[in-house]
Formats: sequence, structure tokens, C-alpha cells
Amino acid sequence: MSHSFGVVAADRLGRMSDPSIFTRILTGEIPGEILLETDRVFAIRDINPQAPLHALVIPKSEQYRDVTELAAGDPELLADMVAAAKELADAYAGGEYRLIFNNGARAGQTVFHVHAHVLGDIEESKLVGF
Ligand code: AMP
Repeated sequence: MSHSFGVVAADRLGRMSDPSIFTRILTGEIPGEILLETDRVFAIRDINPQAPLHALVIPKSEQYRDVTELAAGDPELLADMVAAAKELADAYAGGEYRLIFNNGARAGQTVFHVHAHVLGDIEESKLVGF
């Protein structure tokens, strides 16, 4: 049997789990502003923006919890996320952007479906963190 991760949620042991909040936005179960969608990634506007552009780029697959796992498991998908971030920056922030991945609760991660924060038009004073 072939496995397609698509929008189906499974943990690393292959057990089914509830879809993440991001997947639920993608499927339309809960509202959200989808800014971009490709075959493997999508982007939404963050509900609590920390800059004029604050988007989240998310793989459709829930296979990876954080960027460490993603980079080891599917570097091409990570490159797709960076390309999507650049596309958002081109569309909304003059092509320049900050990319942030929180990795683990102690680093501020709250949603364990890997996602990149894309920030643009950042105030000069806000050089560290958000
Ligand atoms: P992190 O803390 O890195 O896991 O990031 C999770 C991000 O998801 C936070 O910046 C939240 O503001 C954002 N977020 C949570 N719920 C929603 C939602 N329903 N729509 C858009 N963004 C959300």
C-alpha cells in the first residue's frame, strides 16, 4: 500500500492523530487566510501578526514536527518552503524577509506541524526575535 501524507495526519509511528490547526485551515474546517498554495506547501496569515507581513509557510504533510526533522527527511520540501517564503516577500514586502523556525517548546514552538514564520517590513528597532 502506498502512503500519501497529503493532509492526512499520522505520527512518526504511523498512528493517526487529529489534524493540526494548520491542516484544519487548509481543509476549510476553520477559517484562515490562505495566501499561497502549491502541490506541497501552503501559507496562511498569522492570526497574531508581529510585523506587517507575518505569514506561516507549512508543508501539506504533517510528517515533520520541526525543521530539524524536515531538513533530515526531505530537504527538497524545505527548499520549497523557502521558495514560498520568497514568493510571499515578493508579493507583500518588497522581496525581503525574515524566516524563523521555532524548534521545541523551550524555543517557543506551540504547533508541532513544522512551519516557517515569514516576516516582512520589520521595524528597524526589531532586530532580535519578534
Ligand atoms: P509557533 O509558536 O512557532 O508554533 O507558531 C504558531 C503560530 O501559529 C503562532 O504565531 C500563532 O499566532 C499562529 N496561529 C495559531 N492559531 C492560528 C490560526 N487559527 N490562524 C493563523 N495563525 C495561527
